[in-house]
Amino acid sequence: QAGFIKRIDSMSYGIAQSHVKGMRVPAKFYANPKLLSLVVGELETASGGFTAAVQQLCNVATLPGIVGASIGMPDIHSGYGFAIGNVAAFDMDADGVVSPGGVGFDINCGVRMLRTNLHESDIDAKTRERLADRLFDLIPVGVGEAGAVKLSRDDLEHVLKDGMKWTEKRGISWPEDRQVCEEQGCFKGANTSKVSDRAKKRGVVQLGSLGSGNHYTEIQVVDEIYDQAAAATMGVTDRGQVCVMIHTGSRGLGHQVCTDALSACDRAMARAKVKLVDRQLACMPIDSPEGRDYLGAMQAAANFAFGNRSVVMSCVRKAFAEVFGKSARDLDMHMVYDVAHNIAKEEEHQLDGKRVRVLVHRKGATRAFAPHHPMVPEKYREIGQPVLIGGSMGTASYILTGTETAMKETFGSTCHGAGRAMSRSHAVKTMDSKVVLKLLQGRGISVRVATKHLAAEEAPESYKDVDAVVATCHAAGISKKVVRLRPIAVIKG
Ligand code: 5GP
Ligand code: MN
Ligand code: MN
Repeated sequence: QAGFIKRIDSMSYGIAQSHVKGMRVPAKFYANPKLLSLVVGELETASGGFTAAVQQLCNVATLPGIVGASIGMPDIHSGYGFAIGNVAAFDMDADGVVSPGGVGFDINCGVRMLRTNLHESDIDAKTRERLADRLFDLIPVGVGEAGAVKLSRDDLEHVLKDGMKWTEKRGISWPEDRQVCEEQGCFKGANTSKVSDRAKKRGVVQLGSLGSGNHYTEIQVVDEIYDQAAAATMGVTDRGQVCVMIHTGSRGLGHQVCTDALSACDRAMARAKVKLVDRQLACMPIDSPEGRDYLGAMQAAANFAFGNRSVVMSCVRKAFAEVFGKSARDLDMHMVYDVAHNIAKEEEHQLDGKRVRVLVHRKGATRAFAPHHPMVPEKYREIGQPVLIGGSMGTASYILTGTETAMKETFGSTCHGAGRAMSRSHAVKTMDSKVVLKLLQGRGISVRVATKHLAAEEAPESYKDVDAVVATCHAAGISKKVVRLRPIAVIKG
């Protein structure tokens, strides 16, 4: 173990403020011994232009206005400037900053979950293949693929401003869907005039598309229920119950908003005399014209992502209705929840006995608010906010809930997935897509992928052990296990 990493307790590790010059707060991360070796392993192989995640946690701790600590989740791995799996909160009433790289290129990438009243036994092998085919037909998949709905430029303005209020008005999502969506499916501070024409051009053709890489629509069955009462509140009652998980974000539109903002940072940083230890940490004071413009555009892109997941969800409902010859309502295909895991949010937290107003960056991290928090939908007030965690196309996924410990230790946050264990290029070198697909098929998982190398890049082996990641969060108390699911059909870009 690298000398500067000190164990805090059985599930967390700290890095002293002296490690990188200019750190304003310490850094810490959550890991069990097995995950620790992956995190440290990244450090050992880091070279030439690649910065290991723990080093990035420390770099983020140098940014103006950061409070508490720069915090890493157990699924952490290296990313653009900020690690994927980093939570960082910045003081909104002092010199706090917002960093586009701390939100990520895929603004409001997130996970949505639907339940059904189907049981695994309702889906024989033939039906499973038909479902996979129908999903693959109805949901556009791949890098440049056009979306499932045609938008006018005027429609796009409404999606950006209103998110799921627009999909609801168009009959794409159901009125009750918004009640179980983060921010009720609409960030109120969206400023569409701050989204560039270039971003809008990219977005107008892409609403209702999955994208490529690790974005997916996956049919899962309930494998284990840890908390019966919490699961029942979510409408998850039985082992074998069929659910659907959707993982996608704001597509080219969000990417362009991030790219545009990165160039605006230079001006803002020069004015505020911000010096960076890594230029990928480009940022702007929250309270600056550039900062406000980015946050307005970011929220618009986030609304686009809510709209995007809603269109994909409508395709899922349609595919199931067709295959089972029943309406989606008769199949009880309600939304369980929808979380953002690439976002910056204005929140109030308790820090050293004081209320603070902070902008919490969660990049590859999920909000995990405790029971009774006013921001948790009424339906879930007693159990805490649902958290949706994808594993990989061959391993488990989870539903968790938020906790008081998360409020105290992580600004109400937890992990977002398994996190990559190896790079895409290394995965393609060491694994054969055909073999991966065959193994999955043999285990009763129907896979449809749009591109040739994807199955190797996305092989379960290229991810960390999701059970270990979730067990770490559970043991550390920053979220609580409720349901484990396993995949039976996956479609991917
Ligand atoms: P990210 O948001 O960082 O792009 O990815 C989130 C997480 O999704 C990854 O860390 C990984 O654990 C999970 N994931 C990737 N592919 C799949 C998949 O095909 N199915 C499921 N259930 N999870 C996946
Ligand atoms: Mn994601
Ligand atoms: Mn994404």
